[in-house]
Amino acid sequence: MIKRIPAIAALAVLVPAAGNAAEGEVNLYSARHYDTDQALYDDFTAATGIEVNLIEGDADQLIERIKAEGQNSPADVLITVDAGRLHRAEAAGILAPVESEVLEAKVPEHLREPEGRWFGLSQRLRGIVYAKDRVDPAEISSYDDLADPAWQGRVCIRSSTNVYNQSLVGAMIEARGVEATEAWAQGLVNNLAREPQGGDTDQIMAVAAGECDVAVVNHYYLVRLMKSDKPEESDVGKKVGIVFPDQDGRGAHANISGAGVVATAPNKDNAIAFLEYLTTDQAQEYFALGNNEFPVVEGVKLEPILQEWGDIKTDQINAASYGENNAEAVKLMDRVGWK
Ligand code: FE
Repeated sequence: MIKRIPAIAALAVLVPAAGNAAEGEVNLYSARHYDTDQALYDDFTAATGIEVNLIEGDADQLIERIKAEGQNSPADVLITVDAGRLHRAEAAGILAPVESEVLEAKVPEHLREPEGRWFGLSQRLRGIVYAKDRVDPAEISSYDDLADPAWQGRVCIRSSTNVYNQSLVGAMIEARGVEATEAWAQGLVNNLAREPQGGDTDQIMAVAAGECDVAVVNHYYLVRLMKSDKPEESDVGKKVGIVFPDQDGRGAHANISGAGVVATAPNKDNAIAFLEYLTTDQAQEYFALGNNEFPVVEGVKLEPILQEWGDIKTDQINAASYGENNAEAVKLMDRVGWK
């Protein structure tokens, strides 16, 4: 459950990171680059004396780089988005199990790897965007509706090569098994308005343009459009609404941005201190705000649009299952002809 927080709780107090302030450095390999991130790193250094060195890149490149660097890798922390990608890093053997009472207390159990190889730090919900002028949101309250023949020729979704959809299908496999998930995916493919193309933003644009009536997207793409200074983008944000599915069932599919400590980390203690710092209220607020995501820690101030959406029930299935079921998900999507 993602709870709406009363405005008074917004008065987050800056909590200094991890108790015994060690000195030295921490090397972050990050596939995340938002304006708010630098403020976070500066704040961590101010609180602990630990310098932050940043190497940015695409998640798969960073994973390959850490593998190639081997024992000599300077990498301490890997930060990336989607549990499916964190699983790739874990499967490549480059993440260490971490025991931290702070992380175990702050990060909900379903949003971290059971052995502590990675921890979710913000949440992204995969919702259903609909055309306000053509769709009554009450008609589309479940992911199952997307597979109902009533929606034939009306659904947009991006390609099955994208990890967001692979993780959605992986979660569904975990909840209901391969056969039922395959039937759902077949129904969805039968209802597509067009061949999958483009990213999540393109799906929202297609709904606004009348090419489809509903589309499956991560919530922050809509928030970005709603907050855009460009009228052609904010207009799109006004034409569509979003439904968070299955509020009477399992809840909306939640994925994460997250991080893990690298197995060969030369500064392991600092790496853990950094992750713990990211679960303080202030860091959570900034980390989530960078991409209009939901914090993982309860009670942290939400971005105003997210706040307005109110309480949202989210699926509590362990995010580690998305990656574990990834190979099965990819095969299944291929079988039903999800391009
Ligand atoms: Fe994204």
